[in-house]
Amino acid sequence: MDRIDLRSDTVTRPTERMRDAARDAAVGDDVYGEDPTVNELERRAAEAVGKDAALYVPSGTMGNQIAVRVHTERGDEVILDRESHVYRWELGGPAQLSGVQPRPVDAGERCVPTPEQVREAHVPESLHRPGTGLLALENTHNYRGGVAVPPDRIAAAAEAARDLDVPVHLDGARLFNAAVALDVPASELAAPVDSVMFCLSKGLGAPVGSVLAGPEEFVAEARRVRKLFGGGMRQAGIVAAPGLEALDSVDRLAEDHDNAARLADALDGIEGVHAPEPDTNIVVVDTAERGLTAEELVDACEERGVRAGAFDEYTTRFCTHRDVSRSDVEEASERIRAVLSE
Ligand SMILES: *Cc1c(COP(=O)(O)O)cnc(C)c1O
Repeated sequence: MDRIDLRSDTVTRPTERMRDAARDAAVGDDVYGEDPTVNELERRAAEAVGKDAALYVPSGTMGNQIAVRVHTERGDEVILDRESHVYRWELGGPAQLSGVQPRPVDAGERCVPTPEQVREAHVPESLHRPGTGLLALENTHNYRGGVAVPPDRIAAAAEAARDLDVPVHLDGARLFNAAVALDVPASELAAPVDSVMFCLSKGLGAPVGSVLAGPEEFVAEARRVRKLFGGGMRQAGIVAAPGLEALDSVDRLAEDHDNAARLADALDGIEGVHAPEPDTNIVVVDTAERGLTAEELVDACEERGVRAGAFDEYTTRFCTHRDVSRSDVEEASERIRAVLSE
């Protein structure tokens, strides 16, 4: 029985074209700014998200944490959603690496704080209070179910922050999934924010790497912080070349979204199972009503050859991606249905 891996869109293997691109890449020492392939990737990535400049980084986590560090001063507060990746899944990086204090708010189904929430959470600097140094947003919103957040919501939150003189960072690990789902250019989604990170290594299918983009001055400082965080890379063109290939494959994300919708549709409505229709490639299945924990579901799926991830006590994530076809997803649906009908 073939295993169908729906744990994450990070499990994709590089295509033959990516492997060819890696082998043939022109390279140099990127710490000296001399890797032509990295330079080309940074130029094209900046253009794709409508920013002046970009920096190639080893991971999305590093991109986000560099952004936090560049935008803030020690002791500042960062406003973010309490279910955001930066807050929940990055080992407390803002505190550990930048000495800043998160101020989580519950953005609920909107996935982005309202302007009122931004104003309420904002802390003016005083003798006793640290001051707010950053607003961090996320699109698509991973934990809330791969939600593609429309541009007006991002813009409203960003404008509230700007009025308070607070910069805005967007964790766009899956920004292109949002762009494809909403049928707007990624640059439009990133226009209201100061900096944006996106991953080449998720749905876009590159083996390694993410990009942090923003104004020239921000990216110059980000380059210094990347060095500080141990992320300076040498002949990185070898891994950047598949990233360039990945940037050409944005449109195919629609297939993953289609497959995710089919999977959710097949599972939703089974007794005590909720799988709302996803915007993008992340299907979140809630089994609280039947008292089936996510770990139990994940284990039972694993036995039947479908891999998934436990998100929370009763929520399980199934993620579609380039390496699972329509027929794989149909087969996975059957297997998961079999588990749920036991
Ligand atoms: C995956 C992810 C990241 C981190 O990316 P890594 O490359 O795994 O470090 C950041 N934010 C969101 C929303 C993600 O889904």
